[in-house]
Amino acid sequence: MRTWNWILTAALLGSSFIGTSAAAQQAADSQPAAQPTTPAAALAAQPSQPDASTPASTSTAQTTPAAQQPTAPAPPAAAPQTMDQVVNLFIEREHGLIKALASRTPVVETYLQNLANDPQLGPVPSQDHYFLGRMDMGETVDRKDYLKEEEKGFQTRLMGGFAKLYKVQYQPLGFSWMVYADRTDFDREHYDFSYIRREFLGDVRCLVFDVKPKPKSGRGRFLGRVWVEDQDFNIVRLNGTYYPAPRNSYFFHMDSWRLNLIPGYWVPAYIYSEEGDFSAGVKNKMAFKAQTRIWGYDLKKGIKDDELTQIRVDSVKDDSPTAQDASPLQAEREWQQQAEDNVVERLTRAGLLAPEGDVDHILQTVVNNLEVTNNIDLPRPVRTRVLLTAPLETFSVGNTIVISRGLIDVLPDEASLAAVLSHELAHIVLGHNLGSKFAFNDRMLFSDEGTYQNLGFKHIPEEEQAADKKAVELLKNSPYAQKLDNVGLFLKALQARATILNALLTTHLGNPLAEGGTVNRLTALESQGPALDNSKLDQIAALPLGGRVKINPWDDKAEMVKTAPVAITSARDKMPFEVTPFYPRLARYGAGAAANPTPNATPTTAANTNTGN
Ligand SMILES: [Zn+2]
Repeated sequence: MRTWNWILTAALLGSSFIGTSAAAQQAADSQPAAQPTTPAAALAAQPSQPDASTPASTSTAQTTPAAQQPTAPAPPAAAPQTMDQVVNLFIEREHGLIKALASRTPVVETYLQNLANDPQLGPVPSQDHYFLGRMDMGETVDRKDYLKEEEKGFQTRLMGGFAKLYKVQYQPLGFSWMVYADRTDFDREHYDFSYIRREFLGDVRCLVFDVKPKPKSGRGRFLGRVWVEDQDFNIVRLNGTYYPAPRNSYFFHMDSWRLNLIPGYWVPAYIYSEEGDFSAGVKNKMAFKAQTRIWGYDLKKGIKDDELTQIRVDSVKDDSPTAQDASPLQAEREWQQQAEDNVVERLTRAGLLAPEGDVDHILQTVVNNLEVTNNIDLPRPVRTRVLLTAPLETFSVGNTIVISRGLIDVLPDEASLAAVLSHELAHIVLGHNLGSKFAFNDRMLFSDEGTYQNLGFKHIPEEEQAADKKAVELLKNSPYAQKLDNVGLFLKALQARATILNALLTTHLGNPLAEGGTVNRLTALESQGPALDNSKLDQIAALPLGGRVKINPWDDKAEMVKTAPVAITSARDKMPFEVTPFYPRLARYGAGAAANPTPNATPTTAANTNTGN
């Protein structure tokens, strides 16, 4: 039975984890997948089945029953004959979208890296910033932040862009400004539209238009280009800036993408921003790149605390007859379970945890490998969940291990994934149980924005050290024992940027992987493996953000991204821990192709064979 489990992992991860990683180097000696009938192949194939991947059909009922989907608008009565008619149609659709999403309060996350020029690597991060909040898509697009900052005030409400008063001050809301072209005045009185050409974005044929504000139409008007799909005439992508800017502030450039996640509407999902010019002689040194992601459209709008209290009071009484009383140990475990369930449910409701899904199959398989090879037999199975945010973090509550989307993204291989999971598994094995106080329901009554102030799962230093020690022990008995060089390399890459990427390394619920610019997780493994060497193109120590886990912005489901390997041609291609532009493969609702662009291209069996031993 045990060996069967290993084979399952190797194949499963070969196609969906390792296959997408540093696979560029291995692409040459990979063969077409030759294991179509193993259980793993069946498992790995699931995400591409229409039922599993279509949003809002199966999953929303389970996680977020309250929010209702907007009803799809009627398709255009007659096909437009002229480009003028097309312009009228997409203006109308844009207003329809603004109305349809007006009751939504999605989560919006911006991760920004300031850039400095490095002679070998080109523009590299020199500093970073992180913003996370809920965006009210109602009358005025507004935003409430999960992370409390000292500097607040009038600037918070400043329209898009950032103010340059005495120092550059980024405005979180500014990065999400381009969810719409123009919230209030997207019409022919304020804008000129000119048709450019037809173009495919992914599977979707688009008509491309340039959009320019008319003279004297006011400040902060959209200036740029829109892509309009040619069936219902919705805008699917916007690219440009706002013009003219108010005094003492700037609008930056944005590339904004929408996804067809519900019938009839294309929902704002990703916005990339970039500023900076590193050509010779340029005086303005301000440079950054930033990814903004929006998700949680289907979350319930925040309920007031008093309403919640009423609901809870009704359900406190438990009349169910029990066959027998719990033993003291059983009672203790029940209690832990109750706390764990409360926390998982609350974090999911706050839009911070993905519902259980495909990524968890991979995580659980890796955890299972560690358990089986170490003869760990726990009273309750270990569960895993994906934290939807970018900062690199793991924590555990009860028997649930949580790992952030950003951390899964940057890990170079399965052994490194096993390493970060082993630390949390060690906490569970050692009985370092935190959070039992959350078995009291009153402790779950806080606003979504208050999540980070109310929940926390940080261990004391002694428990951290004990968990690291145990983790190394678990890894050395595991199928990953021969691969710990890669873990060492990852930790070195992390150390190399630990002083710079403070925001990415600031955890909000668990212990940080690095503190004060020094990596403090699994330090015993840091010396393993070769020295970090940027000039070695086959040495991939850490990956850019965004390459592995994809979040469905409507229902928060997480799935593994499937990308074809791209060869690395210079050290600048490595981009460890960095943000990059977005290029989602667009597909129409229900087509299922977005999740599965190149079904045959990914499995790299060369990687598989290395995994199991
Ligand atoms: Zn820990």
